Amino acid sequence: MAKADLISDSRSGKTAVKNFQPKTGIGRFDATYSATQKKLVVTSKLHFQFLTMKEYDRDTGVPTWNTRPDGPAWRHEEKQNYRDAFKTIVERSWSGQYKFVCRKPGWSDLEATVELQVIPDIQRGSSHYWIQVAKAPENEGFRAMVAHDPEWNGRFCNKDVEPEQAKRRDDAYGRFAMQWLNKAIIDTGCDFLPFTTGTKTLTPAALKSLGDFAVKASRYLTQDAVDAGLQVWVYAKTASKEGLVTASGRSKVIADKLKALLAPYGSAIQTVSKYSAQPWIKKPLDENLNRRTTLTDADKSSRSFAGGMLFVKSFMDNSGAVQLEECPSIPRNYVVVAHEFGHVLGLPDEYFGVQCDRYKRAMAQRSDWTAPTKLSTGTDRTIAQQEGFAKLIERSNLSAPIMMGTDTVNDSIMYAGNRILPAHYLTFWQALAKCTKPHLDFDDWAIAADNPRNAIHTLDGF
Ligand SMILES: [Zn+2]
Repeated sequence: MAKADLISDSRSGKTAVKNFQPKTGIGRFDATYSATQKKLVVTSKLHFQFLTMKEYDRDTGVPTWNTRPDGPAWRHEEKQNYRDAFKTIVERSWSGQYKFVCRKPGWSDLEATVELQVIPDIQRGSSHYWIQVAKAPENEGFRAMVAHDPEWNGRFCNKDVEPEQAKRRDDAYGRFAMQWLNKAIIDTGCDFLPFTTGTKTLTPAALKSLGDFAVKASRYLTQDAVDAGLQVWVYAKTASKEGLVTASGRSKVIADKLKALLAPYGSAIQTVSKYSAQPWIKKPLDENLNRRTTLTDADKSSRSFAGGMLFVKSFMDNSGAVQLEECPSIPRNYVVVAHEFGHVLGLPDEYFGVQCDRYKRAMAQRSDWTAPTKLSTGTDRTIAQQEGFAKLIERSNLSAPIMMGTDTVNDSIMYAGNRILPAHYLTFWQALAKCTKPHLDFDDWAIAADNPRNAIHTLDGF
């Protein structure tokens, strides 16, 4: 197949799919690849219905507010504003996050960025999904949902586009970020930072560890997180025969180096001045020393080890020493319509745990998070979604999103945040491959995980 044939097909609009349904068994959209514009335009055609409380109960058959008097009707400009907000939020969230690159030798100029277009004023019969929007009472919860074949229906409320959602702070997400940072400390060797004996000079290996950690940590050290109190603690010691070198001097060397590496978030770095001033440190320190194979039992009990280490406070299993109120509450910037639209694009929820062995195997490839040992129970449908998603992950070699229960919360858009991961482009990837058949094979396209915010989620990021 010659490249010119693909370009010619693209010019005449043949590199397109209509009503594409991804391998996950959910979602539906159109997609058109333009070789000259280097773009995959994804189109979602929606039909909106705006309903009062009573109308919503009647039309959905779900008695949400049936014992209550009806609320106000939607005004014309309210409907217009809602459709506009829905379109803006969804298009901004899902467009342009990652690029598709063509790996076929000689075809590498055929890259593609994703442009999502929501068309919100389509007749119901021609739409991909019809969206019912209730005008819900103030200060009441409402559970949005999207149903697929054969309903092709989304249910939302007036508040699901509101920015108040974005301001909510979350302890559970704070715990996730801290657990993840803790794993990053161990994986990069920052749980043991050696000095040249008798000096305050870090060894080249220790400097490399700090540099590696800074790259990974930058993913969670956002201004929001630092403002919320996310901290990395430094603790250093000297051994008995190290003369005039002081532990505090060594701590300062590590802290200064790390502050420079993590600028402008250096204020997140704290130093343990005295062991007794930080009672929470006992547990992670004991764990750290017990992991070391080079220390004798006497060294461990006297804590006369040489070198430094980094810590984060452990709130999950160290509650006697750390007050939960001290846990940083980090905003997740979750917006309901942005998440729900992920389902329209064919992506499964990530908060029901791992439900099939194939997904468990995909998640086990990650080195920064451990797949659960037991599978969660699911419905046939949610299991099939994970199965299909895992197949796409396997084929693409991308990092599997962390699927877990609800005790901690991560910031993935398909969990409860607003971060779009490379794997969330897999249904676009499948659509793109279909658009460019038979000129290119499925595996000729790859997702370039080139969004620096999410670098950790590539396989080579960890
Ligand atoms: Zn969902």
